[in-house]
Amino acid sequence: MSAYVVSRPVWRRFRPRFLARAAAHVRAGGHAAIVLPDERVDLLLSVDAQGKLTELGLWSLLSIEQQRFRRVSEGPALGLATARVKRQYEGSVLDWCERDSVHPGALREVALDCLECGACCHDANVVLDDVDLSRWRGAGRGDLAGRAYVQRARDGKITLRFAASGRCQHLCEDRRCAIYELRPDNCRAFVVGSEACLSAREE
Ligand code: SF4
Ligand code: SF4
Repeated sequence: MSAYVVSRPVWRRFRPRFLARAAAHVRAGGHAAIVLPDERVDLLLSVDAQGKLTELGLWSLLSIEQQRFRRVSEGPALGLATARVKRQYEGSVLDWCERDSVHPGALREVALDCLECGACCHDANVVLDDVDLSRWRGAGRGDLAGRAYVQRARDGKITLRFAASGRCQHLCEDRRCAIYELRPDNCRAFVVGSEACLSAREE
């Protein structure tokens, strides 16, 4: 964890009749929400030369529990990625557009310093897997898998046990992670500057 300057896509909402503008915004690096006549929302995201979403595009999808997208096959958005937003997340996507409405252009730079923040290490649901548990055993830190630090649900899911205050027990006073080299895969995968990051920071 450290300081980063992240170039983030700016979210914009468009009506379908402005699809060409939406596509231009996405091709310039932004993200678009297309609000359909029935108020359902489609995302429009860019893809790279291999047809893959950008990292921040992928994490936008994941943060609204969406994993699939398709490529637009015709019209001004040809080749871009699109996905229908689940109803329960339409408000979140439109909130992102509202949040970004003060920013001109398609991209904005955000300076983030994890050591001044630590927000994602509070009130999080950090699911652990066998790789995490064997990493701890291999490092002689089997204690990290004990009841003091993890909780096991009836369905077998294992998660980090957070303090009653909502703080991860491994988060130090100086906001460093006390088990940084051994931190769970889910912590490693967390993307600085993603929607989940901004949401944890309440931005
Ligand atoms: S919420 Fe974002 S900026 Fe804050 S510590 Fe986590 S990754 Fe870093
Ligand atoms: S294990 Fe480390 S990186 Fe993961 S939530 Fe706790 S303090 Fe944050």
